[in-house]
Amino acid sequence: MTDVKEIEDSKVYISYNHIHQLIQESQPRLKKFNPDLLVCLAGGGLVPTRFVRTFLKEQDKPNVRIMSVALSLYEAVGSVSTQAETIGKEVVRSQWLDYSNGFSLIGHRILLVDEVDDTRTTLHYAISELKKDLTKQCQEKGIKVEDSGTTFGIFVVHNKRKPKNADLPSDVFNETNYIAARDIDDVWIAYPWESNDIVYHTKRAIEQGNDIFLDENNNYIK
Ligand code: 5GP
Repeated sequence: MTDVKEIEDSKVYISYNHIHQLIQESQPRLKKFNPDLLVCLAGGGLVPTRFVRTFLKEQDKPNVRIMSVALSLYEAVGSVSTQAETIGKEVVRSQWLDYSNGFSLIGHRILLVDEVDDTRTTLHYAISELKKDLTKQCQEKGIKVEDSGTTFGIFVVHNKRKPKNADLPSDVFNETNYIAARDIDDVWIAYPWESNDIVYHTKRAIEQGNDIFLDENNNYIK
């Protein structure tokens, strides 16, 4: 039988403050990518996306737009598939972008936001599907994808250092377009929005050094 305490002890607890500061730390890279549209991968990307928008805010300019997609990962038990999108696990869309009001991906700098890049299955799926949508929209307009002026990027709070189940294209997986606030070992991360007991959660995060960053004299680092 699995030792519940062992599992509990192996989890890395992260506080809201810590996530806020990790995203603040990423601000130069976020501003360099300079998105005009944030695509939130719900639900894990919901809170990080809102923080990202704060750190992209420019005085006297409107907030960067946020749109959401909802994807879930299911074990593809017994399924036989040659599709890259279904390696190991199957991604199911429950919500996608709405193009019915004339919105298109053409000409946008689009940053996908999620909390963690684990096996990379979800991010691979999301980028592949957005690229398919873009290709279709370009065909409809009679323009080449290269001339669309569309750029995709990714922001995650954590990227796990581990072999991934799927790759990202090189125009996305590069220094400018792929932004991970932290690379982390292959551990289970407990995010605050999943907690039923935020007091316990925050206490564990503080114990593990995953709350507000302090310097060696316990002063706040800004
Ligand atoms: P993927 O394996 O496709 O990269 O990640 C799929 C999803 O699994 C993530 O968006 C996240 O919701 C969940 N996930 C993966 N690793 C962790 C983790 O360490 N902690 C939590 N809370 N969720 C995770």
